[in-house]
Amino acid sequence: MQELTNDYLEEAIEDSRPYAANGDVNMNIPEYDETIKDHLGVSIITTNGECYAAGDTTQYVPMQSTSKIIGLMVALQDFGKDRVFQTVGMEPMGDFFNSISQLESYDTSKPFNPMINAGAIAVAALIKGKDVETRFERYMNFLRKITNHDQLEISEEVYKSEKANGARNRSLAYFMQSTGTLVTNVEEALDLYYRMNSVMMRCEDFARVGLFLAKGDYNPESDERLIPAHHLRTVKAIIMSSGMYNSSGHYAVEAGFPCKSGVSGSIIGTIPGNMGVGIVGPAIDEKGNSTAGGALIKKLSQDLELNMFGLENTDGR
Ligand code: GLN
Repeated sequence: MQELTNDYLEEAIEDSRPYAANGDVNMNIPEYDETIKDHLGVSIITTNGECYAAGDTTQYVPMQSTSKIIGLMVALQDFGKDRVFQTVGMEPMGDFFNSISQLESYDTSKPFNPMINAGAIAVAALIKGKDVETRFERYMNFLRKITNHDQLEISEEVYKSEKANGARNRSLAYFMQSTGTLVTNVEEALDLYYRMNSVMMRCEDFARVGLFLAKGDYNPESDERLIPAHHLRTVKAIIMSSGMYNSSGHYAVEAGFPCKSGVSGSIIGTIPGNMGVGIVGPAIDEKGNSTAGGALIKKLSQDLELNMFGLENTDGR
């Protein structure tokens, strides 16, 4: 097995970087342009506290859909599993992450899962608080604790852009209001969703979210218990089955550990009991997953033997 070192990670980055050519940068993100297309960075933090990093790790990028993990954790704390999954399903979906048709064709008009846009908006609608500010503050407090990074902030530019380009998400939300899935204020749920998408993080922060999921339910810096452990199990299972949208099956086979992507090219990976992985590679494919980041995830899985379903060379007889 390959030993995990910074030199190895540098090599893995250079092997994976050419895959950026297969993707495109999401130009709705204000800070993004062609010059960052082949940026690629990775940070890995093990449950023993070892930190490794390589590539372009200093770039702050919006969380985008990686925020769906955090929103789900906050909602699970607020309402518990049964109530949350009355509002949103837990099944993978074969359509694109912002699909509308699935809302009408699926019997109960419940979004398939919390990792697609409709599901995440429905989850955001649940998060407790007297107004959007309070609800977002609760989200940020939790995020700052699990990343051990109290400087994390929203980008106002990204937030404005999310709002300005939010027609599809508004359609999803109002459709869900019409079917009774969304019972709280629709505009507030959308506003919270846009804010959650617009929080800026770098590779290390993404890795720390993965580490929190891998390691457990306590604040990394204190002994404060942040969330019941069984909720983390639920979240990891949902990420495994739906975190990479309609490529989730592919990543379950080729990586074999839970991964969640965002259209900023961010990926959070979590290897339970072992490590958290944070990747930023802004070029994404048509399904919304980082092309170079995806190649890197698969390489890491193979070289470091991270596939939880067994190793490539295992003789199964
Ligand atoms: N802001 C994007 C949206 O709402 C996030 C989607 C994503 O990262 N896949 O469509």
